[in-house]
Formats: sequence, structure tokens, C-alpha cells
Amino acid sequence: MVGILALQGGFARHAAVFSSLGEPVREVRTDTDLEGCDRLVLPGGESTVLTRLLMESGWEPGAPAQGSTLYRAIADFARTEAVMGTCAGLIMLSQTCSDDRVVPFSVLPVTIRRNAYGRQTESFVEPIHLAPKIAGGDQSLFPATFIRAPRIEKTGLGVAILAEADGHGLREPVLVAYKRLLGLTFHPELNPEDTRIHRFFLDL
Ligand code: GLN
Repeated sequence: MVGILALQGGFARHAAVFSSLGEPVREVRTDTDLEGCDRLVLPGGESTVLTRLLMESGWEPGAPAQGSTLYRAIADFARTEAVMGTCAGLIMLSQTCSDDRVVPFSVLPVTIRRNAYGRQTESFVEPIHLAPKIAGGDQSLFPATFIRAPRIEKTGLGVAILAEADGHGLREPVLVAYKRLLGLTFHPELNPEDTRIHRFFLDL
């Protein structure tokens, strides 16, 4: 059973892709929803808003954070189970995000800069090569949609880069894996006709 964090953002489209693959999904809004899930998706949306929704009431940016019971349940889950974070979801998985309005789970050793390519109107689609272990026998390019995308500025030890983009002059990672965690700066759920990434996640 795939859990999909459904507090905010693009959870419905991810659910539709898994359903099309015959995979049961559950929308996760509380820590008890997470029980019985063997993998979890943190969808795109807005990481500052997600953080607010996942903190204990009364928390303010910059203050020490303990997190709600759901926040702590996800942090524990991500230490052992498969989690895919797309865009804002990747920001939440990251080790370091230089914005104190975001309290990431600090499980994926990457440094992230939010909104690194500019505003909504600077969103773009770039066809990217997927690493052979995701692509399987299908070497076609994946049309990756970047929406107010974060940039992976640094990757730590043990992080595998499974796709890169170079549309902005720099060659940079846009899809990374670490243990059973997958982090993407783009939105694969917006291309539901190409399910290679979702299928790879189900096989992790
Ligand atoms: N800019 C958003 C953030 O910082 C992420 C955008 C997205 O998920 N498409 O959280």
C-alpha cells in the first residue's frame, strides 16, 4: 500500500498514476493513516506551507521544532521505508534547506535551494535521460516538468544521481536516490502516460 501525504499540493495526480498501475493507495493525513503503508510519497506543493501543517501548533520559524505526531511518524518511516519526494516533497526530505520556514526531515543527504529557477512563469519542461535502472529497456527521454523547482546544490556520500538536466547551462542532478529514498526536482505525476519513475519507486 502506497501512502500519499495529502495535506496540501499535488497528491491526487500521484494517486491516479499508482491506481493506473493497479497499486492500492491511501491518502495520509494523520500518523495512523501511515500504519500499514509500506511506502510513502511526499508530493509537490509548497514546503513552507507543508512545514506549517506538520509542526506543533504555535510553532514559529526559527524556533526549535519537535513536529506534530505525523511529522515524527514520517521522519521515523523515512529512515527505513521507501519514500519518494517530488519538488516540495524533495525539499522536505533534504538534509539542508537554507530557509528557516522549512523544517526538513533531514534524511536525504542533499543541500537544496528553493525556487532556484525563478517564479511560476519561469516554469519549464525539459526532456531528460533516465538512468538505465529506471529506464528499463525504454531509452526514450522523459519530459520533466519543473514548477518553481528547487535546485540540488550538493549531494552527500552515497547519493546516486539517476537523472540530470542541463537546460539552464549547468549540468545538475534532478533525480537522486539514497538507500530507499528517491528525490526529484520535477513532477513525474504530470506525465501519467510515462510511468517508468513510479514503477521504479514501487520496485525499491
Ligand atoms: N517552490 C515550492 C517550494 O519551495 C516547490 C514547488 C513545487 O513543489 N512544485 O516548496
